[in-house]
Amino acid sequence: MTNPLLTDWTGPFALPPFGKISDEDFGPAMERGMEEGRAAVAVIAGDPDAPTFANTIEALERADATLDRVAGVFYNLAGADSTPAREALQRDMAPRLSAYASEITNNAALFARIEDLWSRREELDLTDEQARVLMLTRRGFVRAGAALRGQEAERLTAVKSRLATLGTAFAQNLLADERSWFLDLSEDDLDGLPEFVKAAARAAGKERDRPGPVVTLNRSLIVPFLQFSPRRDLREKAYEAWSARGANGGETDNRAIAAEILQLREERAHLLGYDSFAAYKLETEMAGTPDAVRDLLMQVWHPARTAALADAEHLARTAREDGIVGPLEPWDWRYYAEKRRLDLHDLDEAELKPYFQLDRMIDAAFAVATRLFGLEFAPIDGPFYHADVRGWEVTRNGEHVAVFLGDYFARPSKRSGAWCSAMRSQSRMDGEVRPIVVNVCNFAHSDPALLSYDDARTLFHEFGHALHQMLSDVTYQSVSGTSVARDFVELPSQLYEHWLEVPEVLAEFATHAETGRPMPDALRDRLLAAATYDMGFSTVEYVASALVDLAFHDGPAPADPMQKQAEVLETIGMPRAIRMRHATPHFAHVFSGDGYSSGYYSYMWSEVMDADAFAAFEEAGDPFDPALAASLRDDILSRGGSVDAAELYTRFRGRLPGVEALLKGRGLDAAA
Ligand SMILES: [Zn+2]
Repeated sequence: MTNPLLTDWTGPFALPPFGKISDEDFGPAMERGMEEGRAAVAVIAGDPDAPTFANTIEALERADATLDRVAGVFYNLAGADSTPAREALQRDMAPRLSAYASEITNNAALFARIEDLWSRREELDLTDEQARVLMLTRRGFVRAGAALRGQEAERLTAVKSRLATLGTAFAQNLLADERSWFLDLSEDDLDGLPEFVKAAARAAGKERDRPGPVVTLNRSLIVPFLQFSPRRDLREKAYEAWSARGANGGETDNRAIAAEILQLREERAHLLGYDSFAAYKLETEMAGTPDAVRDLLMQVWHPARTAALADAEHLARTAREDGIVGPLEPWDWRYYAEKRRLDLHDLDEAELKPYFQLDRMIDAAFAVATRLFGLEFAPIDGPFYHADVRGWEVTRNGEHVAVFLGDYFARPSKRSGAWCSAMRSQSRMDGEVRPIVVNVCNFAHSDPALLSYDDARTLFHEFGHALHQMLSDVTYQSVSGTSVARDFVELPSQLYEHWLEVPEVLAEFATHAETGRPMPDALRDRLLAAATYDMGFSTVEYVASALVDLAFHDGPAPADPMQKQAEVLETIGMPRAIRMRHATPHFAHVFSGDGYSSGYYSYMWSEVMDADAFAAFEEAGDPFDPALAASLRDDILSRGGSVDAAELYTRFRGRLPGVEALLKGRGLDAAA
């Protein structure tokens, strides 16, 4: 039998043949990908000809073509629609892929060729993009330990392999905890909740074969439950379970895993000659150093904490009027904040929700991309990897640009959160390859599908990442799309969220699900005025997480991360009624892989830029200013990582950004 993953994908848009792939195909196909990669690397390393950019760097870009193609499909499925078989394969593959990558970076003959090219780089007559790819390739090898020999090299390989295994276990434990916990409710327990929360709780109960509604730990259900449920006892139970993810004892407890990960990361940094893991990690970022990160975070922390403490007093007063004795607790914050929101802004999530229909918000995200970048979207038929998934062909001036897949609804087989992945990235080294891009979200099912305003922002956010992939226009895959510094990658996504707030976008697309009427101007104005509401809270929960992440990696690894976490929170004066957005045992950004380790700050780093970048459109007096839109596309979205991030930003804005626009955008400038 032919493995469908290894055939030429000759269907429409060369999409993966989803209907023909079975779980058993992935393992052998990834093995084959690694074999082909090994063979290609052996040819490069053993080439009798002197190294050239083409016979070494370009050949390396090509070596993992099969593996990338298969892994692109597999890892999307493993996150968006996991099965026990896929989980097992993920566990099984993690250390093997890590060992395979080490095998390549440990290839001394290969590294010697790269070093040779690097030493002669001025004479090679490279394009700017080629020079950048050479620099990044060499830096990647050095950072992976290519310059290490003997025992040190072996130890580094072992450390990396163990880290990969631990990262996968961390993520799977978290998924298990999120999946297994639910709280049975009676119909009476739903009193006081808006219809959409009741419906989501009933749907979740059915999904789990329970006799009645349930609260689960899915963000789209638990957050509105905490916002609206007048039952303090139920809020406490649900909130504590949410907080305890990954720290429930037993087999799925992540605390010991986190400690081991931090020890191994420190060892890895020392082996490579860095003072700390944070120093190693930040070398490749726009921020550059731990001090630069801490400086940015503390500039934001102080005004945010001041604002949050003032807000806490207001909320505590209302809580006392409700007869609550004792201090305001974390499970009270969202509930009383929602009440205060009604008082201050007369803005009721339940009143708003009918205006954010999923389909209209998808249309809105598309329409903004049409106006800014000339992209057109036409639905295409599957099969895709799950019945919920919808697909579109993206074109510009009649030319194919990309395939975009949207996978919007929560289901138990999907990990939490929202993300964008490319099943295939753009490149044109061997002819034009156009991307297949997926947005995965966890919106609660309802009929018609309605979003909260936050959900709608998430949709725009992930679509901003998708644009970064779809508009990519570079030669080499290794620098295409979102292959940029971690603290730059959130710029396109966070910037795109601003267009949801543009009044004419809301007027056209925020139409009532039943009446079809546009959102009344007064409601829209209240919505926009309320956008900075409770920013003290959300900034504090975020910055606290970022500071703990940085403290974990900037200096000796803590033996007890939970104690270290407590120390950091104590030092910065964490308000008692707010907890970290992600506490250590469920801090997947930091522990389920290396992606955001000592990099969680990067959302804020990017927000500094997105606030500043959108201000350019505001200064121009037109959110669709054609010249700025063209520059955004040509100087940032199409360039991927082919040019240094600070240089790209400066091309667009004429200068680097400061923290002022962010504080203003969050309504924290008064407290600064
Ligand atoms: Zn993002």
